[in-house]
Amino acid sequence: MLYYSLSQQSPIADFKTATINGQAPDGGLYFPQVLPKLTADWVRDLKDHSREAIAYEVIKPFVGDTIPANTLQQIVRETIDFPIPLEKIRDNIYALELFHGPTLAFKDVGARFMSRCLGYFAREKSQRITVLVATSGDTGGAVASGFHKVDGVDVVILYPSGKVSSVQEKQLTTFGDNIHALEVQGNFDDCQKMVKQAFTDTELTSKIFLTSANSINVARWLPQQFYYFFALQQWPFEEAPVFSVPSGNFGNICAGIMAWTAGLPVKQFIAACNANDVVYQFMQTGEYVPKQAVPTISNAMDVGNPSNFVRILEIFRQQSQDLKSLLTAYSTTDQRTRELILQVYQQYHYLLDPHGAVGYDALQRYQQDHPADKGIVLETAHPIKFLDVVEPVIGEAIPVPPSIAGTLKKEKAATLIANEYAALKDYLLKG
Ligand SMILES: *Cc1c(COP(=O)(O)O)cnc(C)c1O
Repeated sequence: MLYYSLSQQSPIADFKTATINGQAPDGGLYFPQVLPKLTADWVRDLKDHSREAIAYEVIKPFVGDTIPANTLQQIVRETIDFPIPLEKIRDNIYALELFHGPTLAFKDVGARFMSRCLGYFAREKSQRITVLVATSGDTGGAVASGFHKVDGVDVVILYPSGKVSSVQEKQLTTFGDNIHALEVQGNFDDCQKMVKQAFTDTELTSKIFLTSANSINVARWLPQQFYYFFALQQWPFEEAPVFSVPSGNFGNICAGIMAWTAGLPVKQFIAACNANDVVYQFMQTGEYVPKQAVPTISNAMDVGNPSNFVRILEIFRQQSQDLKSLLTAYSTTDQRTRELILQVYQQYHYLLDPHGAVGYDALQRYQQDHPADKGIVLETAHPIKFLDVVEPVIGEAIPVPPSIAGTLKKEKAATLIANEYAALKDYLLKG
């Protein structure tokens, strides 16, 4: 498999080069030249395959011959070595729980896969690799956990000061060793902009080998297809489901659409957004107008210019299919999010996190117009990650999962920097 840059100015690259580069040299996102198809028989018999077999089959064409089969099988096994259950919330709404990994958010799968691929590629390379990543909350923790103590790789995480939850902050500032946290006096878009600028700074990149672990990296983006296959594997109905995906940078939902192009039966994708509604507006008006991100209680989705949306447009261009026949978008307020967390908890005894609640709202609204459709909300984080929001809403304490109790006791270690590219560059050059 080869990848081209969506900006069309860079040479094509294999999976290894695309993973190491993160973003193409021309600033564009890498996109696969071919969208692989699974056979209809294989998809029909999904329930007979093991999760490892599914994941391997799905990712193999994208990796090509850059990683040997047995190594890739091992990487896949480690990537998904925790449950991803489909739980019933009520009659026609199920939750795919993506929060059983080490940092309790769905980004663990992409981060674990990418860190292991990059670790493999770094072994063949003499220079150290620095992973530079901006986070609106969950990416940082997942990337820190995935890369902690990976030989030959340093990780620098930029996060917006005061705009991530207390649990998230602990998860990205307490690893130490090869993991470094930068607390930026700005918002997520500022962090993302600084990271993007670093990649195009040739003076910097001549001295330090930089790569990205944001969902623009193909090795983080593509394994997210697994979720959708695992959901279908557990789906108790004949009809194809509707997927409601809490969306920020649109990597997860874009991976879902890739799963659909590979042959997975899906009735509809719903992009569930908070007040950051650029894509929702695009679906209404046909005009894509990036905005400043506004802070919300579903902060991992506070993105004003979602990077992966261009990939979605590219899929539909390649498939010559109308976007609107498969994708719907909704936007949900913080107030509505809080109301739904309480209502679903009281009525169905299911505790949603704020992102899952946005997904639930979108699915419910879609079902008002399509009452026969059954759907799956991707529950992208454990509610404990947003206890500052969820506990006051339900008036109860959320039990702390044993897997993060240790992290919460550790001391935060972060470097505070100004919201300016020069501050980041300085930090990186001082090493
Ligand atoms: C990152 C994140 C999202 C948004 O995912 P994208 O792939 O960026 O659209 C949604 N929910 C949670 C909890 C997240 O961490």
